[in-house]
Amino acid sequence: MPNIQVLDPHVADLIAAGEVVERPASVAKELMENAIDAGASTVTVEISHGGLTFLRVTDDGKGIPAPELKTAFLRHATSKLRTEYDLEAIGTLGFRGEALAAIAAVSRIEVLTRTAEADLGASLSLEGGVPGKLEEAGCPLGTTMVVRDLFFNTPARLKFMKKDAAEGAAVFAVVQRVALSHPEVSIKFIRDGRQELLTPGDGQLKSAVYAVLGRELALGFREVKSSGEEMSVTGFVSMPACCRASRSWQFFFVNGRQVKSPLMMAALEEAYKNQRMVGKFPGCVLHLQTKLNAVDVNVHPAKTEVKFGGERAVFSAVYHAVLSALEGDASHPQAVLKNTEIAGVRKQDTVTENQFKINVGPAAHGGTSSVGPSRSLRADPPRGAGPTQPPIPPVVRVHDSTYTPPRPTKPPVGAAAPGRPPASTSSLEDNPVCKPPLENEPAKAPAPTASSEIPWRVAGEVLNTYIIVEQGDTVYFIDKHAAHERMNFDRMKAQGYDPMAQTLLTPAVCRLPPREREALLAQRPLLEEFGFEVDELGADLAVRQAPFDVDAGDIPAALEELAQKLLTAGSADPAAARDELLHTMACKAAIKGGWHSAPQELERVAGAVMSGQVKYCPHGRPVAIELTKKELEKQFKRA
Ligand code: ADP
Ligand code: MG
Repeated sequence: MPNIQVLDPHVADLIAAGEVVERPASVAKELMENAIDAGASTVTVEISHGGLTFLRVTDDGKGIPAPELKTAFLRHATSKLRTEYDLEAIGTLGFRGEALAAIAAVSRIEVLTRTAEADLGASLSLEGGVPGKLEEAGCPLGTTMVVRDLFFNTPARLKFMKKDAAEGAAVFAVVQRVALSHPEVSIKFIRDGRQELLTPGDGQLKSAVYAVLGRELALGFREVKSSGEEMSVTGFVSMPACCRASRSWQFFFVNGRQVKSPLMMAALEEAYKNQRMVGKFPGCVLHLQTKLNAVDVNVHPAKTEVKFGGERAVFSAVYHAVLSALEGDASHPQAVLKNTEIAGVRKQDTVTENQFKINVGPAAHGGTSSVGPSRSLRADPPRGAGPTQPPIPPVVRVHDSTYTPPRPTKPPVGAAAPGRPPASTSSLEDNPVCKPPLENEPAKAPAPTASSEIPWRVAGEVLNTYIIVEQGDTVYFIDKHAAHERMNFDRMKAQGYDPMAQTLLTPAVCRLPPREREALLAQRPLLEEFGFEVDELGADLAVRQAPFDVDAGDIPAALEELAQKLLTAGSADPAAARDELLHTMACKAAIKGGWHSAPQELERVAGAVMSGQVKYCPHGRPVAIELTKKELEKQFKRA
């Protein structure tokens, strides 16, 4: 690689300027990217106090020549880019020549580096961007950067830093992403003296996935492998039955660069349409490889967003690659959910059905049709597209807020009886009613409206889910889970949640995303009130005790859900956080839709609904719908 020079100001100006150093995690990201650009095969990241007082990145890359060491810390000094034309096809992770200057400006840095050509290495210290004396130093091949006292000279910035644990979690999340983006590099992460991650660096994505996401999650993954002329998509996606409570386990990479890509996310989730539960999200580690000039990486200061030349082609490639991986899954005995089995479950319209309708147009770009077979697993192919065409990607950016929960389907009376899931289907344990209501949902209570004085009786149960109650001239369908959840919630709110906790013989070990893990650990006393005892176990959590209401196999998912709730509620409002946790526990403690319930249980739930105590589930969905004799007669053309 050529030597380091300060960019021509004309070129420098073309580069989207941006603040690269926001927090320790951004420092870790930039330094790791430099190490990888330098061809390192091992990179070690060590932090203390969340990376605020100490952050060290050591690599065995090609090193920085001593005469260029000071230059490397100048703004717009880079060895990776020369002219504006180079911006069109960037093959390195860095290219702006800004990171070292930006980090140095707000910290105290020591560098130690040696190239293969030099017998002796060089060391340099900088304080607030001002370099000290360049000195000779004996050191191994590669570079070590120590960043101390981040933001020591910008107290306003420092004030915005979160607790050490939260900043450390953010660093860990960055390290995980780098590890997943470069399985050929062995990545080690040490926090406060404890090693939390080590990837083998054997070039196998599988090994990196295993190390980062843990065994439990890795086992629920299917391999994705598909390549066309223009691009290839490889990696892993969760089986529908192993979808999670959040999108925290979705990782997207483009040409080895971690990206946030609403487009790829939409394509991924579209491939799961009708296969996953409401409120559950597939996890993935997906690498898209394409020509360098087909993506613009120079659109975001932190370089985490990219712009694709052909959005449709990318959408199509990802969609088909994931779909064919899942089809492989469908023929596998482990595949728990088939389309027919889930037909009775309210369907989740992933993302953008409306947008697809609007945007349905000619087929995606040529050249991608060879990416994966286009047979569809789904009963209903994307609207407006033939069975061999992928849905057309939305033109607009898809943000989380556009993920609207589906409208309740027609009352079950009109619906054809779908096959119901077997009671043992673990993935159906979470009842799909546990979703917030639609904003435009009518607010009035739908049922029951009849006076509770009129006698009623339970006429039966259908689909292991709906209790049928007859009262006078009206028939009610009660969603047993939703109603029971409400009863639990009201009771817990009035009397407090007094869980029966069980000590687990062997602790349940679960791997959560760093932010979620930190959120739980920060609220340990609250969790204990809810019957959970958790400890740190390396990068994992060891659950020693859990409430009886949560099935043993459901503990990791329940904790992830609780963590999500804590993260959304925020630490500012403890009462809101407690309420959110109560929702989850009320749901867990409720009888489950799709499962058999004893007649007495059904009577009890029906009684609560018929007495008018229970009208909505805690998320605001109705617990019952009614059908009058008149309406029935109309259907039968009697009236
Ligand atoms: P950029 O990565 O955008 O080029 P940086 O400010 O991050 O800008 O780094 C400036 C230059 O310093 C790089 O172009 C590279 O030549 C050199 N450099 C930085 N870190 C390393 C490293 N760990 N190993 C070798 N060279 C490095
Ligand atoms: Mg860089």
